[in-house]
Amino acid sequence: MKKALLIVGLIIVVVVAAGGVYFWRAYQKFMMVETIVVDPRLTIYIGCGNSIVLTSEDGSSALIVDTKMKGAATSLKSFVKAKNITIVNTHSHFDHVGGNALYPQATIIAGAYSKNQWEEDGNKFSRYPDIRLAPGEEKIIKIDTETVHIYNTGRAHTGNDVVVYLENRKLLVTGDLVFHQWHPALVAQSGTNVASWMRVLDALSGKYQVRTLVPGHGMVTNQSALTAMKDYFGAVSDSVGNKNKQAAVKEKYKDYFAFPGVFGFNNTLKYIQQERK
Ligand SMILES: [Zn+2]
Repeated sequence: MKKALLIVGLIIVVVVAAGGVYFWRAYQKFMMVETIVVDPRLTIYIGCGNSIVLTSEDGSSALIVDTKMKGAATSLKSFVKAKNITIVNTHSHFDHVGGNALYPQATIIAGAYSKNQWEEDGNKFSRYPDIRLAPGEEKIIKIDTETVHIYNTGRAHTGNDVVVYLENRKLLVTGDLVFHQWHPALVAQSGTNVASWMRVLDALSGKYQVRTLVPGHGMVTNQSALTAMKDYFGAVSDSVGNKNKQAAVKEKYKDYFAFPGVFGFNNTLKYIQQERK
């Protein structure tokens, strides 16, 4: 009896340790920052929530899209030397806004979140934006010769998602409207609505000419990622109530990155089922 208990105890320890290692590896992958120098003025920082930094020719001004969180936020900050900083937050989640407080002088632009919602979604470092764009509103700013479109797409991944489009470079930063080869995070508390998200993806495909697409998570890609994201939601939606279809869709997206208990095929299916009720 004692021996049996010991074996069961050992199995539990091994399972918990393996789960811990799996979770830790996923977290490490999530937080790892990779630097992509696009040109002398523009750098993309993949990892945590993906970011870009666009600097003026004299180095005095910079646009930062999303400030990451924790160690990734500090490491992003160390690359920014400009004095005049404009930050755009694509949305309110802490992995995209958790470095805002590191830039006390910066002007922060984001969607029109209530202060409450912003604080609930973010963390103690996610300073509330100074300029808040209403759904459908587009603000255009200049960083030297680059024309920067900042556009509130309306409700999708959250209640007020914002995209940033660099007109000359034909580069679109989507925030979490696109998880590239990742299962998406769906957060009821932040207002995620898959049906509306699919409409936004459609509208974006027609709105901007995109050569380079920086997703909220996953590697840099191109315009086709908008359709791929919509197709993913379409496939999962279509499988609701049909076990065979679900197995096929799960198999199709088996290589997409999943975060244990947070996002994955089952999370997406469950969310879409709830949304339809
Ligand atoms: Zn998010």
